[in-house]
Formats: sequence, C-alpha cells, structure tokens
Amino acid sequence: MNYLVMSSEERKREYEALAARYRAFCGEGLSLDLSRGKPSAEQLDLCEDMFSAVASSADARAENGFDCRNYGELCGLAEARRFFSGYTGIPAENIIVCGNSSLTLMYDAITRCMLLGTVGSPRPWCREEKLKFLCPAPGYDRHFAITESLGFELVPVEMTADGPDMDAVEALVRDPAVKGIWCVPKYSNPTGVTYSEETVRRLAAMETAAPDFRIFWDNAYIVHAFGEEDDVLADIFALAREAGHEDRIFYFTSTSKITFPGGGISMIAASEANLAGIRAAMTVQTIGHDKLNQLRHVRLFREEGSLKRRMLAHGAVIGRKFRILLSVLERDLAGTGIAEWTSPRGGYFSSLNVPDGCAARVYLLCKEAGVVLTKVGATYPYGKDPRDRNLRLAPSFARDEDLEKAAEVLTVAVRMAALEKLLAE
Ligand code: PLP
Repeated sequence: MNYLVMSSEERKREYEALAARYRAFCGEGLSLDLSRGKPSAEQLDLCEDMFSAVASSADARAENGFDCRNYGELCGLAEARRFFSGYTGIPAENIIVCGNSSLTLMYDAITRCMLLGTVGSPRPWCREEKLKFLCPAPGYDRHFAITESLGFELVPVEMTADGPDMDAVEALVRDPAVKGIWCVPKYSNPTGVTYSEETVRRLAAMETAAPDFRIFWDNAYIVHAFGEEDDVLADIFALAREAGHEDRIFYFTSTSKITFPGGGISMIAASEANLAGIRAAMTVQTIGHDKLNQLRHVRLFREEGSLKRRMLAHGAVIGRKFRILLSVLERDLAGTGIAEWTSPRGGYFSSLNVPDGCAARVYLLCKEAGVVLTKVGATYPYGKDPRDRNLRLAPSFARDEDLEKAAEVLTVAVRMAALEKLLAE
C-alpha cells in the first residue's frame, strides 16, 4: 500500500487503524531497546576459553621468552602484531598493538597531530586559525565527538551506497583548513555500507590543500560478515602508496567485537615515517600495554582458521537478529513509499530513513510505547540531522522475542509519523 498515492480518506482510515495498534502497544508496558550496538551475552559466551588462555605464571611467556606479567614490549608482542597482520593484510612491522580500545588510539592520534604536528609538517594543528574535519554522515557519533571536543568544525559529507560522496570530498579538501576525514570503510556504522574500490582509490589519490591531511581509517568491522558472503574492501595502504600518499593513512581496528568490548586488544597501523612519530610519543606516554591480554588473544586464535570459525559463529547470532528486524521492516514498510533502510551483509547496524521531518516524531512515539532507539540526530555532526529523517537501528543486544515486538512498534510509529505529515500537507 503506497501511502504517497492514497486519498486523504484512505490515509485517515489507515492512521486510525495504526493508532489503535499503537495504543495497544502502549498498554503492554514494554521496555525494549534497539539502541545498543553491543554484542549479546550469547556472543560473549563464544569466547569463554579466554578465561583459561593464560592459566598460570608459568604460562605467561611470549614466544620470545618475554614475561608478559612485566613492563615492556611497547609495540606489542610480535605474535600479536602477526595476528592483526594476518587478517588486515598489513605487514606486522607497520602495526603497533596496544590496549583495550581503538577509540583511545584515534583520540591519541589526533591529539598528537594537535600538539606535535605530523611527519613532514611539524606545525601543530592547534596553531592553525581554523580547523575542519570531514564527517561522512550518517556516521559514528563518537568520531564526531572527538573532533568536536578538540575544536574542529565538523563538515558533513553525505554517505552514499559506495561510501562518502567523493565529488563533495574532493571539493572540500581544496580548503587547507580541512585536516582529515573519519572513515568506517567496511560495514559502516550505521549504514552497513562498504566503500567501493573507486571510493578508496579516490580517497588515497586525491590532492589535498593541507599537506598534513590524514584519513582516520577505522576498520572496526573488518571481519564481521554474517556468513560466508563477505564484502571486499580495497587495500587503502597499497592505493595510497601507489599515489605517493602513504603517510596520509592512520589505520585502526580492535577485537572489541571479536572477543570482548572493553576487554579486547587494539592496533594502529601506519607508514614507517608515521610510526616513528607515534613510537616517540608513545614511549613517553606508557611503559607498555597489557601483554597478558595480547597473549590470551594470540592463544585463542592460534589454530589455523579459528578467527574465521569464531566470526562465523558471531555472524550466525547477529545475522539472525538482523533477519528478525529486517523481515518486519520488509513486511510492514516495503511498498509504502515512506521508508528506506539498509540490509548489510555484516557489521552491527542498519540505517532507516523516514520522510524528512519525521525521525524525531518516530523516536518519541517509540519511546512513549517503551521502545528505545538511538537518539535522533546522533548519526550526524553536532547531533543534528539536517533533514530529521535518519534512525540508527542496532539489533544485536536485544533478545529475539523482544526484537520482533520492538520492530513492530517501530514500523507502526514510522507509518503514523509519515501519515501525520501527509495529512497535514
Ligand atoms: N569504531 C566504530 C566504528 C565503532 O562502531 C566502535 C564501537 O561501537 C568503535 C570504534 C569502538 O572501538 P573500541 O572498542 O576498539 O574502542
């Protein structure tokens, strides 16, 4: 039933039927949550053997005999660097393995640029009159928060099905105040989009007015396909090297959604010249990260194919949640002409667009019926969606039975909000 071609009478009848269902939901005392992009306990249980991976002091030696209970190994255990190298394709020498959070590494990387400048451009960014950062949107609110808190002007760039709108990006980087761009290149948060090869090539090759322009390549969902079918992401380092821009890339990932969020290990990778600067600052900052946790991780994934097996097990759980959510959206919203959403093959999120000016209303209707969504606007710089139309859906944490109900409330709310707008026009 296409709402856009309905008569006013039909719209009123449809609205009344939906409002009756909505009132019934409100009477059920629901308390459901579609806002949390974190693994369910069922997923966390997949790494139960982490707790016995390093069982005693005698068991706490790295392959080179290093006692992981002690200070040292600033760049991480050699075997931990090889672990990340194995699935990112980046040479182990270009990787530093750190503590439990890649977001911390991003924050540190950008503050180093602010305070110390970059390789080849030692003028600290904080000395510039004006600083701008490109923010593909919808995107990840914590990225935007880092650059906002450090005084950057956040410049939104529209996300397309191929990644950020590259015509816009290439035009914007002609401004020397634009120092960098946030990228979640695979199963992006929240659209689930994987950047096309063309997008990656253009990001790597484009000419930027700022000589110290940096791409913050946050590949958080690199091995997070739901099944055997996986998106292919082009190799940003290879393309940047080809274009003579290898120093442009800061690459991050972590095991937060492979093992335990907050209890995993993270890495930063960069060119040799960049790494020299990172090591010099890091050696002042810390005497070393948690090698016991690095050792546990290496042990967990020691067997050939174990990362793949574990990620397929994760994918089976989270893929099931997505199927529940998306089948309700498909059943209730397909053909209505009022909503579009992404159906990714991996990651943690789907992105739902409703008619302009309706997202805040959908959020409120859901909230009043007991369904919490990610805050409207969170996926845009400054928390403001200029068209008030985007909602981030995060089905991973909810129980299956709750998900179906939450999705039903959501689709009723979307249709009510859209009809209210159509009836008012
Ligand atoms: N990057 C993205 C795109 C994320 O979605 C998240 C968590 O949701 C993170 C980074 C956080 O990573 P970490 O736990 O390694 O700090």
